[in-house]
Amino acid sequence: MPLEVIRASDLSVTYNSVAAVKDVSFSLIRADFVGLVGPNGSGKSTLIKAILGLIKPFRGEVFLFEKKLELFHEWHRVGYLPQRLTMMNPNFPCTVREVLSMAVSPIASKNKTAMIEQALEQLDIGDIGHKLIGDLSGGQQQRVFIARALVNNPELLVLDEPTAAIDPETRDAFYKLLRELNINRGVTIILVTHDTGTIGEHANKLLYLDKEIIFYGSFEEFCKSEYMSSLFGPASQHIICHKH
Ligand code: ADP
Ligand code: MG
Repeated sequence: MPLEVIRASDLSVTYNSVAAVKDVSFSLIRADFVGLVGPNGSGKSTLIKAILGLIKPFRGEVFLFEKKLELFHEWHRVGYLPQRLTMMNPNFPCTVREVLSMAVSPIASKNKTAMIEQALEQLDIGDIGHKLIGDLSGGQQQRVFIARALVNNPELLVLDEPTAAIDPETRDAFYKLLRELNINRGVTIILVTHDTGTIGEHANKLLYLDKEIIFYGSFEEFCKSEYMSSLFGPASQHIICHKH
């Protein structure tokens, strides 16, 4: 049996008694690469936060690495890039290396320096490791935060709209890195994205959320589904299914 990295069962999340995520059930196995898409406000970020235990669901259960969320403590196995880094004050006087250093798990800290250097190298930002985070451009900061999510060599990587602030060249390199981590190291990836035109080149599964799951499965199934084409119209289905 392949390792079940995430299982969500009958998950619902409400804010002030209004449902943001409703009756969501799905599971991911090791080395799945899921594109999580859906309109603005469809509950993508909320679903991710509930899966990572950052907000309490109204109903339902989550398992991470086959352990009930409440009993799961191996957070060094998970890398997370939030959509908005509200906890990060950009004027906080710390360097890029220090940002990564604070994220290294004590379990892995034997090779702390090597881990930091590897993450910097993966994002091609070794040359700015000594700079203050507040002195960087938005795109450079985003690369630092992606590097931070990678610093513990996570087995599960959850990225909430990581490419929103980065330039096209960096984006291509970033997708290449994700593919490499996914294929060569079996990293399981959930990528929230609006890049519906290109997500099919990288991910092997599509989760289309609109509070409820509209579709979860392979791109082949999505593209063959007459129900999906009746729901989205053949034109939108074509955008997701078109591969270069
Ligand atoms: P997405 O990431 O798909 O854009 P979100 O998960 O951010 O969607 O939001 C889903 C819905 O929940 C939206 O209607 C949003 O306004 C609402 N929402 C998100 N966060 C909060 C919050 N902290 N308090 C109240 N409502 C929220
Ligand atoms: Mg969001």
